[in-house]
Amino acid sequence: MARHRTPLIAANWKMHGDAAGVQRYLEELLPAVEDRPVEVVVCPPFTLLPAAVMIAAGSRIAIGGQNCHWEERGAFTGEIAPAMLVELGARWAIVGHSERRQHFGETDASTAARARAAQGAGLSVMFCLGETLEQREAGATFTVLERQSAALAGLDPTLLAVAYEPVWAIGTGRNATPEQAQEAHAYLRGRAAAVFGAVPASRLRILYGGSVKPDNAAALLGQDDVDGALVGGASLDVAAFSAIIRCAPG
Ligand code: PEP
Repeated sequence: MARHRTPLIAANWKMHGDAAGVQRYLEELLPAVEDRPVEVVVCPPFTLLPAAVMIAAGSRIAIGGQNCHWEERGAFTGEIAPAMLVELGARWAIVGHSERRQHFGETDASTAARARAAQGAGLSVMFCLGETLEQREAGATFTVLERQSAALAGLDPTLLAVAYEPVWAIGTGRNATPEQAQEAHAYLRGRAAAVFGAVPASRLRILYGGSVKPDNAAALLGQDDVDGALVGGASLDVAAFSAIIRCAPG
C-alpha cells in the first residue's frame, strides 16, 4: 500500500537530561537527520526546552513538551499551559502518556482536554494510548483502544499523531511484535476513519511506542500502518536514536 505519511520518529526523554547533555545530543543528532525523509521530534524535560529550541533552530528537528494543561493559566501548581510551551518554541506536546495515566491520575477526560487545549494553542499533539498486560490477556485490547481513542473526537487530525503504546511494552524491553503493532494500528486507523472520515484517517500518523530499539525498529517501522515511533529509553542514547531514525522507510 502506498504511504501518504512522512515517518515521524520522536524521543521522549522523560525525567532525564541536563544542559550540557542536550547540547551534545542535538549537535550529534543534527547531521543524522539531515536529508532524511523523516520528521524528528525531541521531547526533553521542560527545563531544557529553551536550550533545545535554540540548538535545533532552523533544522529538521522539532522540540516538544512531555505534557500540558487544559487551562490557559491559573492555580495549577506544577503544570504548564500550552501557550507557555508555544512561547518557548515547542511545536509538539505529548499527551496521555501511560506514566501520566498510571502515576498522576490522568483520565480519558483529562487527556482529551489537554489535547484539545494543546491544539487550540497551535501545538501538534502526540496522543498516547494502549492497553495493559491484564487487558491484553483478557482479550480486551480493542475495547480499551476504542474507549481511549474516543478522546480523538473533535481534534484536528492535521495536528495529531496517535501513539499506540502498549503499557506492557513501555520500558520493559519487551516490544510488541510487528504483527501485534500492525493489528492495533490498523484497528486505530479504522477508528480514526470513523472519527475523521476516510481521507484524513489515511493521512493520520500512528506511531508505535514500547521498547523500540535499533534492532527491532526496522521490522516495526516496516508495517503498513506504523508511521513512526515514540522512543523512550533508547532515545537517551543519541547513537541508538540516530540508528532508529535510519530504520524509517523513505
Ligand atoms: C515511552 O516512554 O513513550 C516509551 C515508549 O518508552 P520505552 O521506549 O523506554 O519503552
